[in-house]
Formats: sequence, structure tokens, C-alpha cells
Amino acid sequence: MALRIKKGDLVVVRKGKDRGKTGRVLRVFPGKNRALVEGANLVKKHLRRRGENQPSGIVEVPSPINLSNLALWCNNCKRGVRFSIKILEDKSKVRICKKCGQVL
Ligand SMILES: [Zn+2]
Repeated sequence: MALRIKKGDLVVVRKGKDRGKTGRVLRVFPGKNRALVEGANLVKKHLRRRGENQPSGIVEVPSPINLSNLALWCNNCKRGVRFSIKILEDKSKVRICKKCGQVL
């Protein structure tokens, strides 16, 4: 389970209305197998007015996407890719693009 998609990763959406969209992972919900991705799977949310300087209205916020619908973005391949885990000599793990072998 460790070292899959993490906060801060650049991912691409593989399914749904935002297919092909890329964004940074804002948050991962490991128990739910879901992640929040910047700018993806937006839902409208109504804001309640809380003060003079806070306008009420509707904002669009990302809602969690199933991890299986996300792929890690590879800068070398310029696309979302599958990756494998490689264990280095110092026992640390890195993610390797299955297509080009680049460390992701
Ligand atoms: Zn690659």
C-alpha cells in the first residue's frame, strides 16, 4: 500500500468528466482510496456569508476521486503512466515509470 499516489503528486484523471485533466494531489484519503486533486472533479458549494468582507455565493471545490481513476504524470512521457516500485540500496523506495524508467 505504501508509496502510491501521495500529496503533492502531479496526476492525470483517467475517467469521468475531467478525463485528461492534470492537477496536484491536495490530499489523500487512504481509508477510502480517494484523493483530492486540484481543479478536478469540481462541485459547486454554497458559501454562507460569515462577515462583512466575506461574500456569500457559490464556489467550485474539488471533491475526492477514486485512486484507480488517477494516474501519476510522467514528465518524460508527457502522459499519465503506470509505475512500479524500486527498492534502492539504502532501502528507500522510489517509483519508476513503467514506460520510460524515469523516477517519478
Ligand atoms: Zn515515463
